[in-house]
Amino acid sequence: MFEEQVVVITGAGQGIGAEIAKEFGQEGATVIIVDFNGENAEKVSQEIIEKNGKAGSYQGDVANYDQTQETIAKIYAEYGKIDVLVNCAGITRDASLKKMTKENWDAVIATNLTGTFNFIKAVFDKMTAAGYGRIVNFSSLAGITGNFGQTNYSASKAGVIGMTKTVAIEGAAKGVTANVVAPGFIQTPMTDAIPEEVKNKMIQGIPVKRIGLPADVAYAVKFLASKESGYITGQVIEVNGGMHI
Ligand code: NAP
Repeated sequence: MFEEQVVVITGAGQGIGAEIAKEFGQEGATVIIVDFNGENAEKVSQEIIEKNGKAGSYQGDVANYDQTQETIAKIYAEYGKIDVLVNCAGITRDASLKKMTKENWDAVIATNLTGTFNFIKAVFDKMTAAGYGRIVNFSSLAGITGNFGQTNYSASKAGVIGMTKTVAIEGAAKGVTANVVAPGFIQTPMTDAIPEEVKNKMIQGIPVKRIGLPADVAYAVKFLASKESGYITGQVIEVNGGMHI
């Protein structure tokens, strides 16, 4: 499905991003992984190559504007183009508003919101000049409904939705779509930290009665990133087992 395409995925050293990277690898794409953890990024890249896929990796902090510009310039120099950008890197620093520190606020906004902007900014002109691009950004159920203890995270993820809608409007006439995937409760290192007891309670509240898997999210990303999805832009696909309808 993605033969001859170059796909850049941030935060793909583990969790949902790693699964997305592997799925694109199986579909014939050249997959470029950018992650804070360079070793993990390289590990995922090697896994793809071992399965006869094409991949490369970069260590990078999405919150760093200059470094992002450099990384993207290197990718264009080496691979010639970027067809798909998936902004998956994200962090949480949860605390009730009463206990939320400025550091926790700044860190989450810098990675989740500014990081997404940084990568879009680095590819957008080249995508519009090429007349083709697919941008898939990551929000969260918390960005749609709010969530206790996540003022910073909810704000960053709601911001991603607003940003994506504007990018969609600006890119539409030039063949560039921008959409959002908003996962609910997905089994990854990010959610592994939640106590088992709390997790089981949460699962009871999910209409499909199971935690989501990274593959459930990767499928939605592939759909939005496909050539065939060119008439879908500025949309939010919620992957949450019916937690929010
Ligand atoms: P994860 O397991 O924590 O993986 C996130 C990856 O992003 C990690 O490899 C992390 O590297 C990397 N990363 C963090 N900050 C970065 C930065 N500044 N620059 C580059 N890479 C960075 O998370 P996940 O559960 O797969 O989540 C993926 C996305 O889905 C996130 O945007 C998250 O907000 C969203 N989401 C997840 C859930 C869920 O239930 N899991 C629900 C809703 C939305 P390090 O490990 O080195 O920090």
